[in-house]
Amino acid sequence: MLTYDVAVVGSGLAGLTAANFLAREGKKIVVLEKTKRLGGRAMTNDKNGVLMNLGPHGLYVSGDAANILTELGISLPGGNATKPIQLHGILNHDVHVIPTDFPSIMSSTLLSWKAKLILGKLMGKVMRLNISSVQEVSLKEWVDAEISDQMVRQLFYSICRLTSYVNAPALQLAKPVLKQVKRSLQAGVLYIDGGWVTVIQKLKKQAEALGAEIVTNKNVTNIEHHEHYQIIQCSDGTVIHVPNCIIATSPKEAMNMVTGAEHTSLRLWNEQAIPVTACCLDIGIKKLPNPKHQFAIGLDQALFFTNQSRAAKLSEDGTLVVSLAKYHNPMEEINIKTDKLQLELVMDLLHPGWRNEVVVQQFLPKLTVSHDFPHTKRIENPGPSIPEMKGIFIAGDWAGHEEVLADAAVSSGKRAALEILQANDMPVAKEG
Ligand SMILES: Cc1cc2nc3c(=O)[nH]c(=O)nc-3n(C[C@H](O)[C@H](O)[C@H](O)COP(=O)(O)OP(=O)(O)OC[C@H]3O[C@@H](n4cnc5c(N)ncnc54)[C@H](O)[C@@H]3O)c2cc1C
Repeated sequence: MLTYDVAVVGSGLAGLTAANFLAREGKKIVVLEKTKRLGGRAMTNDKNGVLMNLGPHGLYVSGDAANILTELGISLPGGNATKPIQLHGILNHDVHVIPTDFPSIMSSTLLSWKAKLILGKLMGKVMRLNISSVQEVSLKEWVDAEISDQMVRQLFYSICRLTSYVNAPALQLAKPVLKQVKRSLQAGVLYIDGGWVTVIQKLKKQAEALGAEIVTNKNVTNIEHHEHYQIIQCSDGTVIHVPNCIIATSPKEAMNMVTGAEHTSLRLWNEQAIPVTACCLDIGIKKLPNPKHQFAIGLDQALFFTNQSRAAKLSEDGTLVVSLAKYHNPMEEINIKTDKLQLELVMDLLHPGWRNEVVVQQFLPKLTVSHDFPHTKRIENPGPSIPEMKGIFIAGDWAGHEEVLADAAVSSGKRAALEILQANDMPVAKEG
């Protein structure tokens, strides 16, 4: 008996977005999540009342995720993190003001006057850029053609890393990252009150109110494709027959669970994927020893520091949550010990004496930020349907069509749901 119209595997942003779009059209939905917590990488850890995302997390105010969540009626409480603060750059183990407004342009020693002019023109150009007119070139090729000054290049690469988490300009396609930079310049980035779990809880609540069933501790081990239905098996013995299934996990997990996936496009999507990883240190701190240093990016090292509490409420007792990240280059070896030391040295530089103020810490040596991103080696955009297996769809941050990160996760969840809704011959679930 088919009791659900659609089973969604995975309760991250992609899976819960898909569930909401389907449930609001009256479809009977079940979401199967293998862990005991919802949200995947959008989870937030509560450490004695100090709320920590997995590393620094900002949602682009005018990005696809924010727009789609708003379309679903999900409000996004929090603050714009790009509201006037002084931006700092770290170069040669020294902290510099990044010229962004009149006073900082006058005071900054980071760039020569000529370079300041080049930077100003570049930012104006990016703000006005017609993104669709950008050629299919790598970020490096775009930068080589557009930016003559070495220091401005370095700064621009840091900004691109910041907005995309990708530390591989020769691999990364220029268009999606320029879109992110333009968005951040125009509308800014939102830090969410309570952490990203706030969004997950709202998506869950709304989907359940619309009749969706959301089940945790359900590890899907196998999906068997049939012409008119899919058989989903879980590790606890549960078997579900559904006409449609959305797999909102990593591409590798998707590959492993679908019988015969090696004969489908899923194999290509999995093989072409280049995961983006980062090392993160989140710190709950009583106060910042140097309150001027709220935000800093590495110019000669792929590092980032931000005080998330300047824009979002992340504790009841006033403890601040600051986050540091080191962006891994997907083509280079990772050294966890050196990474941690590098992040601590950034704190020593920006906030001498910080160790005396620490309330709680969370060190995450290697997190997958995104299972794939738009790059020069990508042969085709994944999904939303697996063309060789009617009724099986995919979603996740690796299934972006020019979107990146959470924008890709949320957009692909919507795409998968809409494709199911648009299929005229979708069988209707029966009770039983
Ligand atoms: C350190 C860090 C910083 C980030 N910063 C930003 C940022 O600033 N801005 C931004 O836009 N994005 C950011 N991201 C990326 C963003 O968090 C992710 O892109 C997004 O949360 C991914 O959502 P998803 O639904 O695609 O995947 P996930 O969140 O990974 O969800 C997949 C879910 O599937 C479940 N699952 C897997 N296998 C099975 C199975 N067999 N059965 C059942 N369930 C299964 C998993 O448990 C998980 O819950 C960051 C990520 C990290 C790690």
